[in-house]
Formats: sequence, C-alpha cells, structure tokens
Amino acid sequence: MLPKPVLARAQAEMLDWHGSGMSVMEMSHRGKEFMGILAKTEADFRRLLNVGEQYKVLFLQGGAIAENAMIPLNLLAGQSADYAITGGWSKRSVDDASAYGKIKVVASSERTAYRQVPDFASWTLDKKAAYLHVCTNETMSGVEFVDMPDTQGVPIVADMSSHILSRQIDVSQYGVIYGGAQKNIGPAGLCLVIVHEDLLGRASPLTPAVFNWKTQAENQSMINTPPSYSIYIAGLVFEWLLEQGGVAAIEKVNVAKAKLLYDYIDASDFYVNHVALQNRSRMNVPFFLHDESLNAAFLQGAEAQGLLQLKGHRAVGGMRASIYNAMPIAGVQALVAYMQAFEHAH
Ligand SMILES: *Cc1c(COP(=O)(O)O)cnc(C)c1O
Repeated sequence: MLPKPVLARAQAEMLDWHGSGMSVMEMSHRGKEFMGILAKTEADFRRLLNVGEQYKVLFLQGGAIAENAMIPLNLLAGQSADYAITGGWSKRSVDDASAYGKIKVVASSERTAYRQVPDFASWTLDKKAAYLHVCTNETMSGVEFVDMPDTQGVPIVADMSSHILSRQIDVSQYGVIYGGAQKNIGPAGLCLVIVHEDLLGRASPLTPAVFNWKTQAENQSMINTPPSYSIYIAGLVFEWLLEQGGVAAIEKVNVAKAKLLYDYIDASDFYVNHVALQNRSRMNVPFFLHDESLNAAFLQGAEAQGLLQLKGHRAVGGMRASIYNAMPIAGVQALVAYMQAFEHAH
C-alpha cells in the first residue's frame, strides 16, 4: 500500500503541479519542473539511506527482473560471479544471469523449502568472483537477511526490492543495491540502482545503452525517458518518510508490526509460519492455516473486512501479509483481531 497522504497529494496536484499549468504526466522530462522533481527525489533518497558520494543513484525502467540480466552484463567482464539461492527471487536471478557468463551457486536453501538463510560458514565463496549476488528479503517465502557474509573484498550486489527503506542499512557494505519500486517505494515502472562508482565501466559491449549503468550515471538517468510519474510518486513517498522521522523511525514501527503478527501466529495452534526465527521477514509474513480446506473461507472473510491481498504467492500457497512501510500498525491489529475471530469460529 501507499501512504494515504501521498495519494491525496498526488490527487491534489494531478491537474496542475505547483501552478505550472501541467500534470507531472504532461511534463517534458528535460524541463526545469521535472528536473527539479528528479533532483529532489534523488537528494531525499540519498538522505534516507545515507548514500555516500562514491555511489551513483540511477532511476531505470525494466524492474528488478531486467536488472537480473543487466547485473552480469555490467559487472562480469569475463569473470565468474557467486550467487546465493535463498528463495524464489534469488533463484530467478541465477536463471536470468546464467545466459551471460559463469554463475556459481555458493549456497542454497532450496532443498529445505527456503526456511532460512544458510549459515555463512557453509558458503563456498570465490575470492576471485566479480561479485556476490544476494536477495536480502525474499518476498515470497518471507526470509530476510540480518547481516552479510565476509566476502574479503568481493562486492556484494543485493536485490532489496521488497525491504528497501524498511530498516537501516550500511550502504558502504554493498557494491550495488537495486530494487523495483512497487513494493516499498511507489508505483511499478521504476527500478532504483545504487552503484559504487568503482564498478562502472566494466560493461560488456552488448549491454543496451538504457541499461548501461555508466552511460546512465553520466546522463542523469536520461539516456531514455525515465519513468517520470513513478519517480514523482516515489519522491512524495520519500518526503512522507522523512516526515515520519526517516528510516530509523519507520524501522521501529516495522519491528512492532512484525512482532505483533508473529507473536500471535506462534501462540496459536491454528496458524503456522515455518521461517527460522532469525530470518523472519519484517515485510512479508507468510502463514498457513493448519486446516487448508478453510483457506477460501479465510480469504473471503478477510476481504469482507477490508483486509485485502492476503493470498500467498502462487509458488508458496497459504497466506501472506505484506506489511510494508505504509501499512499502519492499526492494519496489523485489525488482521490479528480477524485471525483470532476466525480461529474461534472454526
Ligand atoms: C517483486 C520482486 C522482483 C520482481 O520485480 P519486477 O519489478 O517484476 O521486475 C524481484 N525481486 C524481488 C525481491 C521482488 O520482491
């Protein structure tokens, strides 16, 4: 979900942005109005995550899945890369990257149904790898990293699509951070890439110009028309987040929301979550009813109360509550109250 104040402001500014006589949708992306929106959006994003000067921030199209292919094209330069499989999205990253060079799977929790991040001591990291790829929050199975392995200088490339801005991170631990906007930032169509400048300039000549990070960094992400309306909404979300007190403040709310839901699930013998305690995602909480024949009734009753989109990912089944930044704690309280009532009724 998106914050209500953001949607209301987009509505108020829909027909005429700040007296310009235009909707943001109608602006030239190179005009002074939109260039101002882009500059402010980037500055606020950098402030929220404390992104250092050595990093470029790119506003690209194609989503995280396009980046899955563009990461090896931009970074492999004839070397191999290490990948950890911790869920459906990082597995997809391996599949997408494999066409472009040698990809080594250094850890996998696939055979144990993605219930935890494999112990770092078991990872077979290659000191000569071009990079290590991880997905730090597995959206389908609800598995989140709490720390990073020691790669001895090999840059870490992290897909943070579904938990970026939900918790404080140390950007300097990463070579590249990327994520589609539509989980925790704004509407679909925008993909953010944070890349250390030392990693620019390695791209294969086959890399499309719109996906060449160096070219885009040198052209303010404007080698093509950027997804301007999605960038504008992302900018409103960043302003909202800063008003809430930034990432540190929203992280506290996220911890409280997740605790409320997991504590209830763990105390009940009607619902279950299978993820190891230390890797339980604060953003995506998958859970199952012990009696799966009640799934349809559960979803129907939830919808009647305005508790929407609780059906689990089709690859996982069961239920999934996605409790991103914009979900207020009252939303989680309402869900728990409904789950309790449903448990009693059945
Ligand atoms: C949703 C998601 C993706 C896919 O994003 P697209 O915008 O569809 O390319 C990739 N990785 C993670 C972790 C996701 O949650």
